[in-house]
Amino acid sequence: LFVTFEGGDGVGKSTQARLLEEWLVDAGRTVVRTREPGGTEVGNLIRDIVLHHRGEVAPRAEALLYAADRAHHIASVVRPALARGEVVIQDRYLDSSVAYQGAGRVLDATEVRDLSLWATEGLLPDLTVLLDLDHDAARLRLDADDKPFDRLEAEKAEFHERVREAFLALAAAEPERFLVLDASRAPEDLAAAVRDRIETLLTS
Ligand code: C5P
Repeated sequence: LFVTFEGGDGVGKSTQARLLEEWLVDAGRTVVRTREPGGTEVGNLIRDIVLHHRGEVAPRAEALLYAADRAHHIASVVRPALARGEVVIQDRYLDSSVAYQGAGRVLDATEVRDLSLWATEGLLPDLTVLLDLDHDAARLRLDADDKPFDRLEAEKAEFHERVREAFLALAAAEPERFLVLDASRAPEDLAAAVRDRIETLLTS
């Protein structure tokens, strides 16, 4: 079972990924919790480039760097875990590229998606949880968490609005794969909604 969490910065993806992992481990499952960009040693090198040079890297180069990270991560971590029958919970995946490199950096959404599908040999998640939150609320949360200032400051509000709209459009296009949740809800409520969907998937 391959589950991804998507959404803008500061929406609570890593908290939800952790809560889901705890629940599955308690239920006796073997879980690999991982993330993109990063998730491997090589991936962390790429993460450093894309995050420390954001805005300086040409948009197509940025898209290729994310795709390279993804190709390596899927081949070396995710596919082997899925082949062992484990559950993979991943913070961000190809929908982030369509939203950030596509809508955010204004590249063609289909081309960006196709690049990721080529990089991953067509691997799609069984479930993608989209945590939806408006930019101002997300920003307040990052401030409250004392996350580095450069995160949301690096791009303007319109950038994040485009990213949010792109995520919602992706979810509308693939309602079977997506579970869209209002991320302003209490973390425990959100976790319960995710668990309900996972239980259905595991028993079907
Ligand atoms: O959520 P996480 O800390 O892993 O994301 C790192 C940053 O990379 C985020 O600020 C996000 O905006 C950016 N990102 C991106 N394109 C992606 C994935 C993440 O611009 N495909």
